[in-house]
Amino acid sequence: MALIVQKYGGTSVGSPERIQNVARRILKTQGEGNDVVAIVSAMAGVTNRLIELANEVTGHPNPTEREMDVLLSTGEQTTIALTAMAIHSQGGKAVSLTGAQAGIVTDGAHTRARIANITPKAVHDFLAEGNNVIIAGFQGLGPDGRITTFGRGGSDLSAIAIASAVGADLCQILTDVDGVYTCDPRIVPNARKIDEISYDEMLEMASSGSKVMQSRSVEFAKKFGVVFEVRSSLNQNPGTIVKEETVGMESVVIRGVSVERNQAKVTIEGVPDEPGVASRIFTAIADAGLIIDIIVQNVSKTGKTDISFTLNASDLPKAGEILDPILAEVGAGVLMESRDGIAKLSAVGIGMRSHSGVASKMFEALAAVGVNIQMISTSEIKTAVIIDESSVEKAAQAVHDAFGLGEPA
Ligand code: ADP
Ligand code: ASP
Ligand code: MG
Repeated sequence: MALIVQKYGGTSVGSPERIQNVARRILKTQGEGNDVVAIVSAMAGVTNRLIELANEVTGHPNPTEREMDVLLSTGEQTTIALTAMAIHSQGGKAVSLTGAQAGIVTDGAHTRARIANITPKAVHDFLAEGNNVIIAGFQGLGPDGRITTFGRGGSDLSAIAIASAVGADLCQILTDVDGVYTCDPRIVPNARKIDEISYDEMLEMASSGSKVMQSRSVEFAKKFGVVFEVRSSLNQNPGTIVKEETVGMESVVIRGVSVERNQAKVTIEGVPDEPGVASRIFTAIADAGLIIDIIVQNVSKTGKTDISFTLNASDLPKAGEILDPILAEVGAGVLMESRDGIAKLSAVGIGMRSHSGVASKMFEALAAVGVNIQMISTSEIKTAVIIDESSVEKAAQAVHDAFGLGEPA
C-alpha cells in the first residue's frame, strides 16, 4: 500500500462537476489500494473575488493583513467540505481538515507565511480509519493561533510540505495542463510537455513567470528532496517529474522559456557616482516592501551615472512616491523616468553551464523578429531580457523556435 498526496488546483475544482471528477479520481486512487491525502485550492476565481470584495468594503486597496488571511482562507475551506461531500455521495469515506486541523504551523507572517512545522497526527489517524483526507491548501496557523496564508499559488506549497511531513510515496500536482511545458502553452501553442525537469530549472522557470508551480513550493521540494509530478486532473496522461538533477539532463541546453508580464522599469538619470547613493535608493524601496528584479547601473561619465531597475507594474506608483523626496536630496538635476508595459522573457536550462553561445542565439532570434532588448540579466542557468510587453508573444515564440523546443509542425 502506498501513501499518495494529490493536489487539485483551482480550475480542477472550479465547478460542482469538476469537484465530482476530483472525488472520482480520489476514490479510484484509494480503490487501487492506496491511502490518499488530497490538498485542494479555492474554486477558480474565488480568491480573486474575495480580494475584490475586501477592496470594495474598505474602499482602498489596503485591508489589514490579519483579516485578509481570515477571508482568503475561506476559499479553500469551501472546497474541502464540498470535496468530502462529493466523496460521501459516491459512497466513499472522507474527512475535511483546515490547515490548522491538519497540524500546519507557520511563522505567522500574514499573506506570505512560511511553514514552520507540521504535526500530521490527525491526518494519520483519519487515514487509519479508512478515510480519504481532504486538506485546505494555502493556509496554516501562526504561532499565536492566527490564520495565515502562503501567498498566491500557495496550495502547491501545502501539498509539497504535507507530502514531506507524512512521508508520501508519491506527490502529484494535478492541474489544468498535462505537465510543465517548454513555455506556457497559452503563449506558445507548439510548446512541448517536458518529461523531467530539475528542481533548479523548475525554480528558475517558476520565479520568472511560469506560474504552473508556486516558486516557494519548488524551493521547499528541493530543500527536503520531495520528488513530485505535475499532471492533468482531466486525463490520465503521464506528466512532468520534478526532481534532483541527473547525469544527462545537462545535454539539453534550454529546458524552457518563461514570460513575466506586468513589469515596469524605472530609470534614474544623473545620479552622483559616489558611495552610499545606491544604498539610499534601494534601502528606501526595500523598507517599503517593494520587490526589485533586475538592476543595471551604467558606467559613469563626469561623475554622474544612470541606474535602472524593474519591478511589478502595480508597485510603480508607490516607488515614485518613495523616490521623489530621496532623489531631491541626492542631488540637483536627477531625473526619474518610469514606464510600465514591459515584460521579462527568460530562457532557462542547466545545460547553459556547459554550452556557450546561449545569449547570442537568443539575441539573434529576437533581432530577427524586430524585438528591441531594453535590459539583460544572466545567472548560471538563466538568460533574461526586458522587452516591450506588446511583443512578448512573438519574442517567446522566436526564442522557443531558435532553441528547437517546439513540437515539429
Ligand atoms: P492550478 O489552479 O491547478 O494551480 P495554475 O493556473 O496555477 O493551476 O497553473 C496552471 C497554468 O499555468 C496553466 O494553465 C498554464 O497556462 C500556466 N503555465 C505557465 N507556464 C507554464 C508552463 N511552462 N507549463 C505549463 N503551464 C504553464
Ligand atoms: N487560492 C489561492 C490562490 O488563488 C492558492 C492556490 O490556488 O494555490 O492563489
Ligand atoms: Mg497554481
